[in-house]
Amino acid sequence: MLSAVETAQDRTSDTVRLRPAVEALPPYVPGARPAPGEHLWKLSSNENPYGPLPSVVEAITRAASETNRYPDMYASDLVAALAQHVGVDPEQVVVGNGSVAVLAHLLSAVVDAGDEVVFPWRSFEAYPIAVAVAGGKSVTVPVHEDGRLDLPAMAAAVTPRTRVILVCTPNNPTGPVVHAEELEELLAAVPADVMVVVDEAYLEFVRDPSAPDGVDLVKRYSNVVLLRTLSKAYGLAGLRVGYAVASPRLADAIRAVSTPFGVSHVAQAAALASLRPEAQAELMARVEALVAERSRVVAALRDQGWDLPESHANFVWFPLGDATMERAAEARAAGVLVRPFAGDGLRVSIGEVEANDAFLAVAAGWIAAG
Ligand SMILES: *Cc1c(COP(=O)(O)O)cnc(C)c1O
Repeated sequence: MLSAVETAQDRTSDTVRLRPAVEALPPYVPGARPAPGEHLWKLSSNENPYGPLPSVVEAITRAASETNRYPDMYASDLVAALAQHVGVDPEQVVVGNGSVAVLAHLLSAVVDAGDEVVFPWRSFEAYPIAVAVAGGKSVTVPVHEDGRLDLPAMAAAVTPRTRVILVCTPNNPTGPVVHAEELEELLAAVPADVMVVVDEAYLEFVRDPSAPDGVDLVKRYSNVVLLRTLSKAYGLAGLRVGYAVASPRLADAIRAVSTPFGVSHVAQAAALASLRPEAQAELMARVEALVAERSRVVAALRDQGWDLPESHANFVWFPLGDATMERAAEARAAGVLVRPFAGDGLRVSIGEVEANDAFLAVAAGWIAAG
């Protein structure tokens, strides 16, 4: 007979069986952060360089004194405000702890073991992870050389096992948007029981008139789901608020599998404060300034001799191939953190004017080096 203590010691070698899909997960590599005390421009995570609005900080402070209570489980006030903002019924809006959580929830509502999820590649690196966690199989379709999605190829990749198609527009990290016409063609070609998710994380930065009107698509196609976030244009990345816009039936299903109380009380208060008309005006003025900064950076890069994909987001993409990691290290040495994807390219966020200027100097050096 083993004593209780010996039995416990036997359990120190870790043999718990993990799901094979989990053991094989690719790691999510977040954008690099400066070490404590290190002064680097952080252009590695597509964050908004502006701090929260004073009125939003006030709402956060007020909510902070109420955190002994659970939040409103369904975030009813926030859902109502988002529904009004978007122009749909509240029953069509589901919120979550960032849109990556909403993505996980919608996949778990429709993907059974071995079902296929079609998405472009390279695209948002959370996609393959979320699909594997949901038990699904990733079917990737290469983006064109100019960074645009190949929607006909994505439609052609659909099989009887396909449950979801993810359309990232603008595509992170390459930057271009899909056009309304080509998205309509995809929707016409795809069976009505396949969910088509349009990930609009960078919607507010889009200035291309041929971009699709996602809300109109949700109204006309019951299988379209929009994914949106307050992390980028609204500058609330640290508080985690994202949402889906879907048909009432799909919204119900996503809600049913969502983490209870998934959006914290403080996050709900900050999001609500950000949707007030006065806050909207201030936030959209900041977005306009970032879009102007994007135009300035893109024009300066073109003058340096770069021919890059057309960005409608708050970042630019450099398809540098095998030189990627070395270039990222050079940028860091020059005081700028960028986001490299080994062997593929690097993504550089649009930040403060000084940060962008520091990066432009680095990019000029790369051109000079050939
Ligand atoms: C940043 C981003 C998101 C949003 O993430 P949150 O979880 O809402 O912070 C979603 N999709 C894409 C493509 C992104 O780049």
